[in-house]
Amino acid sequence: MDLKQFPPKARMRRWTGGALSVSMRYSAAGVSTCIFIDNGKESILVDVGDGSLRDLLEINRDGEAGSGLDPIEGLKAILITHTHYDHYGGLFSLLHFLRLMERSAPLVVIFPQGSKERILPLMDLFEEDRKGSRGYTLSYRAIPAGEDLTIGGFQVMTLGVDHHDSDIRGNVGERVPALCYKVVLGSTSVVITGDTGPSPELSGFVHTSDLALIEATYPSCMVSPPGVHMNVHQARELGGSAGEYWLIHRTGGSDAEIEGKG
Ligand SMILES: [Zn+2]
Ligand SMILES: [Zn+2]
Repeated sequence: MDLKQFPPKARMRRWTGGALSVSMRYSAAGVSTCIFIDNGKESILVDVGDGSLRDLLEINRDGEAGSGLDPIEGLKAILITHTHYDHYGGLFSLLHFLRLMERSAPLVVIFPQGSKERILPLMDLFEEDRKGSRGYTLSYRAIPAGEDLTIGGFQVMTLGVDHHDSDIRGNVGERVPALCYKVVLGSTSVVITGDTGPSPELSGFVHTSDLALIEATYPSCMVSPPGVHMNVHQARELGGSAGEYWLIHRTGGSDAEIEGKG
């Protein structure tokens, strides 16, 4: 396998609009996704793939999130787009670390309705391990597509998106419950598409956002079966209607192509 197909280096990025900021470390690579969103006092994570704990610590340690944000207590919620491991494989280690650091504030894990079979067994293991040693309340919410949420000072809108299990040969399996999230603070909004193919509904959701983080799994020369992933060309077309966009979840495509110069 040629590992050069993955993005060559971490793309550490931070974006601020009004009081809303977005930090991203390694999510450009299609191996793991974790998006850190904060308002200077509270934070949420959208997806919690491998390395999420590292990302959370780096972003707070380097002062990106500001000194007013407590990295341990300030995390309000974890929003999972769908239950593929690259989007929630880091959940265990993060929850364990928060216990170790004696977090006391409640934490909610949010995921699409229909996917609890893939999450709750893991959580049962976590609950059973060193029972009684956790100082914070952990709760779970399965969210139907279209439901709006309030999390701390953030408003969160959800859109159901079409996404299926698939393999590297292009075989398509079961549809998985999957959500695209729009996080709103004041007049600023950020959309995280999660994994999905393009659709008119998604275009409408992205259209009014100030920043869109769009999956761009394949280089433009490859087209995914419908309802699985986008390629760089499709993702750029979708992102063009947002104020700004970042392409994430890449497994191919040159940097020049990603920057729109290829
Ligand atoms: Zn997926
Ligand atoms: Zn994925």
